[in-house]
Amino acid sequence: MREMTEPTSMTIGFIGLGNMGSGMTRNLQKAGFPLIVNDIRRGSADELVAGGATWADSPAEVASGSDIVITMLPTPRHVEAVAFGARGILAGIADGGTWIDMSTSVPEVTERVRAENPHRGLRILDAPVSGMSVGAASGMLQIFVGGDPSDVERVRPVLEAMGDPERILHVGAAGTGYAVKLMINQLWFSHLVATAEVLAIGTKAGVDLEVLRRSLIASPANSNFVQNDVLSILDDGDYDEGFAIALACKDLGLSIDLARSVGVPAELSGLVEQIYRRAKAQYGDSAGEMTPFKLYEDLAGTPLRRATEVSA
Ligand code: NAD
Repeated sequence: MREMTEPTSMTIGFIGLGNMGSGMTRNLQKAGFPLIVNDIRRGSADELVAGGATWADSPAEVASGSDIVITMLPTPRHVEAVAFGARGILAGIADGGTWIDMSTSVPEVTERVRAENPHRGLRILDAPVSGMSVGAASGMLQIFVGGDPSDVERVRPVLEAMGDPERILHVGAAGTGYAVKLMINQLWFSHLVATAEVLAIGTKAGVDLEVLRRSLIASPANSNFVQNDVLSILDDGDYDEGFAIALACKDLGLSIDLARSVGVPAELSGLVEQIYRRAKAQYGDSAGEMTPFKLYEDLAGTPLRRATEVSA
């Protein structure tokens, strides 16, 4: 996490103070950015307001007082809800103003904003993130930005207060940030399901769990998931409740929509989505994003846990 040496005069409006937005705003505040914040849960802003942030009653009020508006909301539907209407961002944002949507979403809402406001000169960037709530809290998110290169450079100090400067990537024109983020999640969720299946089969066939995992690591089938990410489950039974499976299912649905819109068949992605939806139905909306792993543990009849922690 980096502290800026000079406080900045650029005021940031931030809407959506949940698992991700709470950490991101704390880091913006630490970096010296004046903040105006809003969420449908008033209490989510208490700590920020105690630290000097200003509460706004509506997205319009956030936008009218800010140089840059940031949204970090669950789904495209929520982004749409804060953008439009008498109390929405568009009702408050100045002509030529800047809006960065950091939600995992799709371009439809921002495209509609541009189409309905062709003469206002709004600068809109999509900048979704990876790195989980832990990365949001530590200010080490990976950020994938789509939009005009000069706009990206102008807001870079703001992004650097929330993310790892080495991993803030300008990935192309408007909308490409959303696409990169959806593809990252699609592949990671696919790794999770494939790994769960293989570990359940292998251990049922009599192989020791850690022997199997180490054999996979030593083989061409190795992956970051097998080597690192699976350990939160194998060591701690932690399925990452910081990212709800309902949101993971939302991402998988958006990813399939994207595949459909560009005309690429997505059989495997469709299957992974169905497995995720089964886990959501079985364990509940707020279960962690890694809960589909548990489906396979249930099939194996035992949690998949390493007997002792061994360095990978
Ligand atoms: P969350 O549900 O924890 O937080 C969302 C916040 O938005 C909540 O505080 C909610 O009250 C607020 N909100 C909803 N509707 C609103 C409205 N109309 N006006 C104002 N506030 C409103 O979600 P999250 O986990 O913080 O995720 C946010 C986004 O980041 C999602 O798109 C998610 O897919 C993405 N994401 C999450 C993670 C993670 O690990 N949690 C990682 C990467 C990306």
